Amino acid sequence: MSPKQINKLDASDKLSGKRALFSVPEDVIYLNGNSLGPLPSNVQHRLNSVISEEWGKDLIGSWNKHGWIDLPLRVGEKIAPILGAASGQVLCCDSVSLNLFKLLASCLQLRPDRTRILSQKDNFPTDLYVAQGLQQLLGPSSCQLDIVAAEQLADALSEEIAVLMLSHVNFRDGAVHDIAALTQMAHERDILVIWDLAHSAGILPLSLDDWNVDFAVGCGYKFLNGGPGAPSFVYVNKKHHDQFTQPLQGWMGHKAPFEFDPSFTPAEGVGQFMTGTPPILSLAALDAALDVFADVDVKQLNEKSMALAEYFLKLAEQQPALRDLQLSSPKEPVQRGGHLSFAHPEAYAICQAWGDVGIIADFRSPDLLRVSFSPLILCFEEIDRSVQALFEVMHHKTFSEAKFHQRRKVT
Ligand SMILES: *Cc1c(COP(=O)(O)O)cnc(C)c1O
Repeated sequence: MSPKQINKLDASDKLSGKRALFSVPEDVIYLNGNSLGPLPSNVQHRLNSVISEEWGKDLIGSWNKHGWIDLPLRVGEKIAPILGAASGQVLCCDSVSLNLFKLLASCLQLRPDRTRILSQKDNFPTDLYVAQGLQQLLGPSSCQLDIVAAEQLADALSEEIAVLMLSHVNFRDGAVHDIAALTQMAHERDILVIWDLAHSAGILPLSLDDWNVDFAVGCGYKFLNGGPGAPSFVYVNKKHHDQFTQPLQGWMGHKAPFEFDPSFTPAEGVGQFMTGTPPILSLAALDAALDVFADVDVKQLNEKSMALAEYFLKLAEQQPALRDLQLSSPKEPVQRGGHLSFAHPEAYAICQAWGDVGIIADFRSPDLLRVSFSPLILCFEEIDRSVQALFEVMHHKTFSEAKFHQRRKVT
């Protein structure tokens, strides 16, 4: 496209003003907001003040004075509208993995005459590991994980299944499930559902209450931009409140932690999902990061992300040197989350060589180049430059340099 046409796309972008709220290096085009969201500038100010004023000056009094003790619930309330959840059902604590453990064990309690967890073969590994761990702990006569391919899920929903646990967006190819339809199918057989929204929250429109979802979890550090290791969120539908006790009981999930009662009485509602002391610095960072979402409609974010991805594909198709990159994501934009994946035997080295010229994407083993489209920070002109740079990498085979083949710990 001509520079004029690109400028036109950027000029009609209603989200273009959001970029100024982030601190992203000038010489980088960041196509990895699905793994670690970029830094919202106000997070820096908030953390400075939490550290120097709240911790530095008010010390332990800050638990009351600055409301640290309620931060997990307050941040949960801020995330709730992004999930389509009414107040009182979302809490921010621990990691997705830990929250999945709590939820799976709770679902087995809620369906005492069923023992099976159903999930998908290529679900994110941590989701499967947690279920496998629970199976080992409880023994196969009390808990068993069944995994099937995505196409077989509907047929596998039998009345022996206690809970269906799935990721909304597949972390590899970005394919999305129809939450409403699968939840309804599961409910017809009295199966509970847990949706992992790690790659959905902040990029795909969600209506958890309307879809009658039982439980959900998701990451604070991906499209919500809460920073490395930001706590996870957990959604517990009101209809299940006070019907069970999650097993990772800790004092912060007690009804009255400062009574120091030797026996456990769970807090009401979603509050019982707390276990230990909340990480205030991380929570404060996420809290500040969420301000960016206050006046944006997730639908708008989704539309721009799809437009950026379609633009990327269109430009890539025009370059014969890029034909070897096989799109492994669904072709239809509405069937994808916020990223595209391309298979190539040298995907790792390609990703490194692309990164060397300032285009940051990521690699997923064994052969996927993952490219994500954060609508809050990216413009169409950057997509144009990214495809140009990828063309250079592929056309001149710069990825064949030895230094691009060394695998680091984190890929
Ligand atoms: C990123 C991701 C996770 C990460 O889980 P943590 O316990 O927070 O590290 C879990 N599930 C999915 C689908 C993910 O994409």
